[in-house]
Amino acid sequence: MSCTVEHKYFIGNKVCRIIRRGMEIKCPSCEGVGEVVLLDGQLYKCPKCLGSKVIEAQPQWIVEGVERTVDKIEIIICPKHTSIQYHTSMCTRHYEIVDERRLLPTRKLAQEKCKRWNLKDNGE
Ligand SMILES: [Zn+2]
Repeated sequence: MSCTVEHKYFIGNKVCRIIRRGMEIKCPSCEGVGEVVLLDGQLYKCPKCLGSKVIEAQPQWIVEGVERTVDKIEIIICPKHTSIQYHTSMCTRHYEIVDERRLLPTRKLAQEKCKRWNLKDNGE
């Protein structure tokens, strides 16, 4: 028995990876001060950020800063689903396994995909 699976990338290809990252943004209630003036004219710790000046924003898809190189390709075939994963490295010591949907051939295409995925709830 044999099967044919098409994969986008080959060993040695340079790829850009997109990752989902939690972000902190300036607290909108106290505008990043950490304190608010209430009706009695006194300063209080901001009730929204509890004085930390930032709040956790919706995680965003962003393009990783460094290009990766494809070192190995793994194709997993299940009854309902085929997944293609790549071992990708940034240097000789560390590699990570990344799903094909999170790799793009150029930074520009990766940025466009992040934009599209960020418009949905959790991308993909
Ligand atoms: Zn605040």
